[in-house]
Amino acid sequence: MAQARPGDAPLIHDLIGIGFGPSNVAMAIALSEHNARAGRGEVITAHFFEQQPRFGWHRGMLIDDATMQVSFLKDLVTLRNPASEYSFLCYLQSKGRLIDFINHKNLFPLRVEFHDYFEWAADKVDDLVSYGHEVVGVMPVVRDGAVEHLDVTVRSGEGLAVHRARNLVIGTGLRPLMPEGVERTDRVWHNSELLAKVDGLSSGAPSRFIVVGAGQSAAENVAYLHRRFPRAEVCAVFSRYGYSPADDSSFANRIFDPEAVGEFFTAPEDVKRRLMDYHGNTNYSVVDIDLIDDLYRQMYQEKVLGTERLRFLNVSRLTGVKETPDKVRAAVTSLVTGEETLLDADVVVFATGYSPADPTGLLGEVADRCLRDDEGRVRVERDYRIATDSHLRCGIYLQGGTEHTHGITSSLLSNTAIRVGEILDSLLDRGLKPASDEARTVADGTGSTAR
Ligand SMILES: Cc1cc2nc3c(=O)[nH]c(=O)nc-3n(C[C@H](O)[C@H](O)[C@H](O)COP(=O)(O)OP(=O)(O)OC[C@H]3O[C@@H](n4cnc5c(N)ncnc54)[C@H](O)[C@@H]3O)c2cc1C
Repeated sequence: MAQARPGDAPLIHDLIGIGFGPSNVAMAIALSEHNARAGRGEVITAHFFEQQPRFGWHRGMLIDDATMQVSFLKDLVTLRNPASEYSFLCYLQSKGRLIDFINHKNLFPLRVEFHDYFEWAADKVDDLVSYGHEVVGVMPVVRDGAVEHLDVTVRSGEGLAVHRARNLVIGTGLRPLMPEGVERTDRVWHNSELLAKVDGLSSGAPSRFIVVGAGQSAAENVAYLHRRFPRAEVCAVFSRYGYSPADDSSFANRIFDPEAVGEFFTAPEDVKRRLMDYHGNTNYSVVDIDLIDDLYRQMYQEKVLGTERLRFLNVSRLTGVKETPDKVRAAVTSLVTGEETLLDADVVVFATGYSPADPTGLLGEVADRCLRDDEGRVRVERDYRIATDSHLRCGIYLQGGTEHTHGITSSLLSNTAIRVGEILDSLLDRGLKPASDEARTVADGTGSTAR
């Protein structure tokens, strides 16, 4: 980033991005592609801050055989710009695997491969990001009663610094969800930390794992732990009767289409709710049918051979977890009989989902200027901009946390390429710089007020 000299007026970014996961990497790419063809005065200056020390996409769940839940064609760019040099196909070509991938006849790459693709794409726009920088707060800059700029406070190894922007794009992703009252410990994990924790398991072969949940992550955890620890019993605990398959049939899949976002946005509230009810099973609490079949096959084989170590405690709930010095004792209650079973395990993994990070959590006083609907949820415009009071002239765009307004793709990859194009168009339509800024903006605009 360009350095501000003492005495310089604050340098102002057109856009500051919070988080640099796939959503904001896609945003950075869209900006780079725009800037490469933009005339003078149309270049958008931007910088992104990411708290992780380097790019990482759900690293704790990069299980070696897990595959993507979305077609590779829904990568960071293709739906917006099929000719982009940032596509998954260009990545494959650069790695010398394009022809091998084609012969594989597969739309759903390994998750580790898509991670490598994301990393490759993020590296190509790394001039726009500072890793190891956590955004800790946002303050309005009030002048004559209006707010045209926001000051973003960022914490890094060098301390706190403040960066000024005309617009924000918040892409802070999902937070692991634990049941109320359950704390994470060395023996009580959320699935998001699976690989890091497994590697750190102290020596001595574990004899039992308990995995709570019936979604894709839960099933993946069960399969992985069963494979990785060939002597351990793995108990899956869930309240359903069995795992339910994800509906990835072609008609249902259209709920992820770009057009579906517009239709969802304009639909009345009760229709929105109905659509989520009908099609929640394309994404939530469901499992890939191939994985369901694999788990069942395994369970049945063990029954035949008399070597059962894959157990399914269905229609049950985990009602207590207590740690002892060398184990964790879990109480599992049958929802049918109410009977409680105590199980000693080495580890309990909660695959109990994620919730979107509260977008207003970082906004401080600015959050008070954000408008809310009758249910207290942030109101978001079609262009993903938070609706605010009229004195706040900055755009605060959300990537994620918009399921109530834009539908099921909010926290997914399916619509990312299109969404960032729409945010870019909105930035351009709204006009980049208030007249008062012109004199203060540096040519490359990558400055900040302090370091
Ligand atoms: C295991 C797993 C597998 C998935 N697979 C799929 C799939 O196959 N298909 C699909 O469509 N979706 C999938 N998803 C959904 C997932 O939400 C998206 O894949 C994707 O991660 C969304 O990208 P994002 O950039 O919005 O959020 P994230 O990937 O969560 O990135 C947010 C980033 O913001 C950073 N951050 C947060 N707060 C701050 C802060 N204050 N300051 C600085 N940085 C901050 C975080 O460190 C993180 O890097 C999966 C989710 C999980 C958990």
